[in-house]
Amino acid sequence: MKVCKMPVCKKETFNEKIVFCGEHDREFKAFLSGAKKITGGITISALVYIAKKMLDKKS
Ligand SMILES: [Zn+2]
Repeated sequence: MKVCKMPVCKKETFNEKIVFCGEHDREFKAFLSGAKKITGGITISALVYIAKKMLDKKS
């Protein structure tokens, strides 16, 4: 099993194709639908999403 890519999250992913746990995958999909301008594919998008979440936590 793979573990969610979100640094603070230790939950397992549902399958090998997704990088986040169920909770974060849902948020990530919502984030993608609101951020269509991100280029570079799913990996870059995931990193941007993680960075955004980290920044949100600090404020
Ligand atoms: Zn997670």
